[in-house]
Amino acid sequence: MAQNDADRAIPVMTLRDVVIFPHALLPLAAGRESSVRAIEKSVAEYDKYIFLVTQKNAEDLNPGAGDLYPVGVVCRILQTGRTPEGGIKVLFEGLFRASWQPVAEENPFGTAPYPCLIPEPLEDINDETAENAEEHKVLFRLFGESLDEYARVCRRLNSDQLNRIRGFDSPGDLADAVMPYLTASFARKQTVLEILGPWERLAAAHQLLCEETGNNELEKKIKARVSEQMERNQHEYYLTEQIKAIHKELGTEDPGAEADELEKKFREKKMPAQALERALEELRKLKQIHPSAAEYAVSRNYIDWLLDLPWNELKDIDIDLNRARDILDGAHFGLEKPKNRILEFLAVQKLTDGLKGPILCLVGPPGVGKTSLARSVAEATGREFVRISLGGVKDEAEIRGHRRTYVGAMPGKIIMAMKRVKSNNPLICLDEIDKLSADYRGDPASALLEVLDPEQNCAFVDHYLDLDYDLSKVFFITTANSLGGIPEPLIDRMEIIDISGYLELEKMQIAGKFLLPRQLKAHGLTADNLRVTDNAVREIIRSYTREAGVRELERMLAALCRKSAVALLEGSPLTQVTVQNLHSMLGVKKYRYDAAESAPMVGVATGLAFNNHGGDILYIETAVMPGTGKILTTGKLGDVMKESAQAAFTYVRSRGPRFGLRADFYKDIDLHIHVPEGAVPKDGPSAGIALATAIASSLLGIPVRCDLAMTGEITLRGRVLAIGGLREKLPAAMRAGIKTVIIPADNKKDLKELPSAVLSALDIRFVSDADEVLPLAFDLPEEKVFSCDAMSMPEKLRADPLSAAGPSPSAVM
Ligand code: ADP
Repeated sequence: MAQNDADRAIPVMTLRDVVIFPHALLPLAAGRESSVRAIEKSVAEYDKYIFLVTQKNAEDLNPGAGDLYPVGVVCRILQTGRTPEGGIKVLFEGLFRASWQPVAEENPFGTAPYPCLIPEPLEDINDETAENAEEHKVLFRLFGESLDEYARVCRRLNSDQLNRIRGFDSPGDLADAVMPYLTASFARKQTVLEILGPWERLAAAHQLLCEETGNNELEKKIKARVSEQMERNQHEYYLTEQIKAIHKELGTEDPGAEADELEKKFREKKMPAQALERALEELRKLKQIHPSAAEYAVSRNYIDWLLDLPWNELKDIDIDLNRARDILDGAHFGLEKPKNRILEFLAVQKLTDGLKGPILCLVGPPGVGKTSLARSVAEATGREFVRISLGGVKDEAEIRGHRRTYVGAMPGKIIMAMKRVKSNNPLICLDEIDKLSADYRGDPASALLEVLDPEQNCAFVDHYLDLDYDLSKVFFITTANSLGGIPEPLIDRMEIIDISGYLELEKMQIAGKFLLPRQLKAHGLTADNLRVTDNAVREIIRSYTREAGVRELERMLAALCRKSAVALLEGSPLTQVTVQNLHSMLGVKKYRYDAAESAPMVGVATGLAFNNHGGDILYIETAVMPGTGKILTTGKLGDVMKESAQAAFTYVRSRGPRFGLRADFYKDIDLHIHVPEGAVPKDGPSAGIALATAIASSLLGIPVRCDLAMTGEITLRGRVLAIGGLREKLPAAMRAGIKTVIIPADNKKDLKELPSAVLSALDIRFVSDADEVLPLAFDLPEEKVFSCDAMSMPEKLRADPLSAAGPSPSAVM
């Protein structure tokens, strides 16, 4: 290197992140040791001249010559001062741009006691030609306008600065003057610094100037939006705080806080995602409704339902067959068949670990322990028990609920029951499934089908909830009084377990071992406070109850317990109940027990009826009076029974000549048929043969055996057709002291369902023709019934002895 080259070298300070332009003032704090040394050297030895060159990488603390941009600015130091940290504050003034050469090839900054470079001043190149002169004029004008715009929008220039810039009239100086005020990156500024064509430099500076004005507009817009949003948030915050304060002042609840509280509860609750999502959605809606609006209550009610329902709460199920048997036996006398069937069912459940399989349906008259068996099953398996009565349910909505759009909409009985038990695997007893009926509001049976179908009930949809609800873990047991009323498709899903009524002896056992102890306990008494003799219990069964089950019996025992409780408090610790004092406690006898004790009577036949309370006996009374051939029926007979009476009379008329009656005897008489207990509606065809017997008896004047009862439908020609309800009717006959019963031959097959105690207590006669009935009922040989001799009929009705053989029945009709 030549000596004069080294003499031309001046101290260098490298700039980080900044670019200085000629004519510009730049205040800086120098901290790096190399910078401090360069400044000191400049002030001491170089007449305050210093070369400022920007380094390419701002992070670089020790840049070499290759790390610097090729063009820098030779400056003068106008002022210096110390910083508290030991650095130097300096004010530089840019003089002219210069490229540089290193002093020593190898190590430009290392050898000297201060960093130095040899600056090569750079002159501007004339880039004005005749072609672009016009364009430059426009550019110059535009630049002026842009500068004004920039000053207006960005407000980074005060008027002095603006005037100083405007004072430059050469394009290159103008560009250099404006550059320090722009916020462009140092790299872009360096690019402008390196342009030597003044017009080209002005164009580049103009470009940056416009970009910044535009950016600034955008920035302003964004800022305005942000501040607007902030204002709105603040406004909302202010308002909600105010609402809270108002609620606090009024002592009312804050709906927002309430919704937050509810949300917390929902999130803590185990529920399916679908339900949780719905709940949160509903909560969002709730927050926007004013608490005094009607919809608020509707929405709140729905949310409460979702919150109160069990969704995933299971009780521990433990099936121990021995324990289950003990529990069933402990609460119920007899009922061996149903109990065994239930235990089998539980055994399968335990082995298959599930509830797949048919639904149990317990069928029998009221009060035989169906519901209480179901309750014991719940106890034996550790399930919650809930009973849903289906009696009189006509509307599908009672099972499935109303849609929420209805005023006062509620979920159906199933979901209500689930809410009550608070667990997802209870035992639900659907009581009286045979009493369902359908009307125009939809068929509840079809909704029940879905409930009871193990394939479908994992996603049962209640209209109110409008969500899938899982019923697959529920153990369903249904009960019914008779199979007749159960819709066919439901029967298909169920396994029927029959429970027939109890005989007197069984009832006495149940009363002594179960009902009385239970009632004593319920009334706070002990066995020492009330004693009821066996005879008294029998008398209660016979004269105060008439039922297949034991419900009325239990009620009567409860009545005795009440009397005993009063007596106890009045000073007599023991109440004895005997047949003698029974009526003073329970009042007069309600039922006449024994038909067999009364004497045979003319015109009265005993029929057998069957209703929801089980079987019963039924007296049919007839009277013949002089008249004009009318038939009068009283005792609230239904249409079918009235027609049955007509048919029975026609049968008797057809046999008239054989009985020795005049062919037209009916023209001179009126027949009155009455079935006592007039207030109770009676209907059905099964009293046919009893009606015929009573009519024949009153016409012929022959008494009917009083220890005999009968049931059977009659046709005009006297054929006897099968009837239903034999299982209830025969025990009722036995209860009433009947010795002989006449039943249709077609019903013979039904006898196997009856307890042997009943079969052995009754003399059962099968008939297929009404002609066989009368000799049995009158206790007379057939030839006597069908001859004029034995007749004690009114003289007037008798046939002329010569025509006694009479025409054939069909000829009469
Ligand atoms: P259902 O549902 O058949 O109409 P419940 O189950 O309500 O009848 O029974 C009525 C009452 O009779 C209950 O208190 C029940 O405990 C009692 N009961 C019925 N059958 C028996 C029985 N075999 N042993 C003991 N108590 C019985």
